Amino acid sequence: MALYKFKPTTSGEHLFSYITTNLIGKKNINQVYELEALQIGGRQHQLSTYYIGILTANILTRCLKKANRIVSMFEDEREHQKLIIQYFQRSLEIPRTPYGADLDRLATLTLEAERKSRKGIISSIRSQFSTTKVNYCYICGFPVFEKPLETQVKMQLEHIWPQSFGGDSIAENLLPACPTCNNEKSDMLLWQNAHIHSFTLKPDPSPQELENVGKRLRIAQHRRDIFEYASMNRTTLKDAALAIGSVNISEISAIDRDDAVDFFNFSF
Ligand SMILES: [Zn+2]
Repeated sequence: MALYKFKPTTSGEHLFSYITTNLIGKKNINQVYELEALQIGGRQHQLSTYYIGILTANILTRCLKKANRIVSMFEDEREHQKLIIQYFQRSLEIPRTPYGADLDRLATLTLEAERKSRKGIISSIRSQFSTTKVNYCYICGFPVFEKPLETQVKMQLEHIWPQSFGGDSIAENLLPACPTCNNEKSDMLLWQNAHIHSFTLKPDPSPQELENVGKRLRIAQHRRDIFEYASMNRTTLKDAALAIGSVNISEISAIDRDDAVDFFNFSF
């Protein structure tokens, strides 16, 4: 199984990999795959990746939030390391060596990802994407322009690994995107983080809501495809995104009621 074995490039990805491998542990991940409760309905693979992804993303988010608070409260860097380790032990209840997790290493990775989440795109990086030629949104494939004329769409740079999750503002983590996709994808980390739950659980969605969820669903599926490709081929997420290409969002028809409920299958 090649779950989340993509080649990490940003600080957030290194932290994510460390949490999956050393904190949750390969042994536990394999056990999740064998849980009988997750096999109901023949969706074992989707449901187990769902839970592992959510679990890792949850720990990642909590670590980064705490690191952010510590950094804003204390100036001394040695203090940061000490306090975040205390947090791992007291609040996250991570023992010093559960499955080979090194708390000093985890603290270093967390603080580094937190630091990078505060650094925006500098102009020398931005200019690497500026070209007189046309660029394309990596999500929907729509042409985007650095200096758009009246009817053209402005190019934005999208953090493939979201900046808020420790996604460095480096060329390896950026691709051109249109404002609509950039906004719709926002800080979606994994396909599991797509905010479609409230919708899927709603008993009587309107036609407009059904149409909107279609777009989010496709972005989530595109995201899942990128992670799967990168994990299978051991590439970076950017290389995977370039290899897969965009999805044609305008061609997506509205999802019907059954499909919407079916996607995560939690609303029987
Ligand atoms: Zn787009």
